[in-house]
Amino acid sequence: MSVIEVKNLHKRYGDRWAVQGITLAVERGEIFGLIGPNGAGKTTLVECIAGLRRPDSGQALVLGLDPQKERQALRSRLGIQLQDSQLPDQIKVWEALDLYSSFYEEPADWEELIVALGLAEKRNDVFARLSGGQKQRLSVALAMVGNPDILILDELTTGLDPEARRNIWQLILDVRARGVTILLVTHFMEEAERLCDRLAVIDGGRIVALDTPAGIVARTGGEQRLRFRPSAPLDEELFANLPEVRRVTRNGDTVIVTGTGNLVQVVASTLAQRQIIAHELRIEQAALDDAFIALTGEKV
Ligand code: ATP
Repeated sequence: MSVIEVKNLHKRYGDRWAVQGITLAVERGEIFGLIGPNGAGKTTLVECIAGLRRPDSGQALVLGLDPQKERQALRSRLGIQLQDSQLPDQIKVWEALDLYSSFYEEPADWEELIVALGLAEKRNDVFARLSGGQKQRLSVALAMVGNPDILILDELTTGLDPEARRNIWQLILDVRARGVTILLVTHFMEEAERLCDRLAVIDGGRIVALDTPAGIVARTGGEQRLRFRPSAPLDEELFANLPEVRRVTRNGDTVIVTGTGNLVQVVASTLAQRQIIAHELRIEQAALDDAFIALTGEKV
């Protein structure tokens, strides 16, 4: 049995569809990512899975239970850390954990969580004085205090500096090593690529790709990217009819041609015909962020 099963789930706000027929299954012990542009429907989907919203149609099952109707049975098995979770400014780290653990019949040992999440030195600090990364660590600790089998993390590392983000990534891997299944909403391609076993790319309330990160990159054709500074002004139309070329963009003087197949040869010979030299030519294999743009048309 899959740990999370979503079948043809629909949810709308007024006459606007936020989620339009999403089907997916998350397996035990996976880190499963939801990635997509702003407003794609990720949070709405996660809220339906967590039982915080009622779908208009379709179904979400968590550990075989209906998250709305059987919320009580799921309460200690599903930990959720939502965007911008706020605590009172003056609550101390240990007090927050103590309070949250009182909500559960069999809570985790929060003293142990404090250490595991690197908050031991902060246990007596008040919430308002924690850094962004420390607040995020605390929110993960609070989501874990019920000893959940499943942890839902929504944009956990948004607003953190690269070092804090890397620390949180390690933390997520450690949590998974304890056997917890993780559903992770993220905006960051690097995060998705490093952490997630599988990913659903969501756009306009629908899944546009569902695969391993490598599979998603391959699915978009294993694109290549050429960057160069042309020796003479270049009309982008020059490449428009070449089947190998998918996109031509510019960054200042630099032209970026993205495509597949014999891209290098085709672009080189087109330039040669016009006697244009490609200065500072670089060839890059596309990664997940290119795949994301190709799938959703969004810039990351
Ligand atoms: P982000 O990455 O910006 O957090 P998201 O992918 O999580 O976005 P959602 O927050 O699920 O997307 O929003 C999906 C759509 O539903 C958006 O168009 C949003 O404006 C709309 N929406 C979300 N919550 C509500 C609400 N409570 N009332 C009305 N519309 C909403």
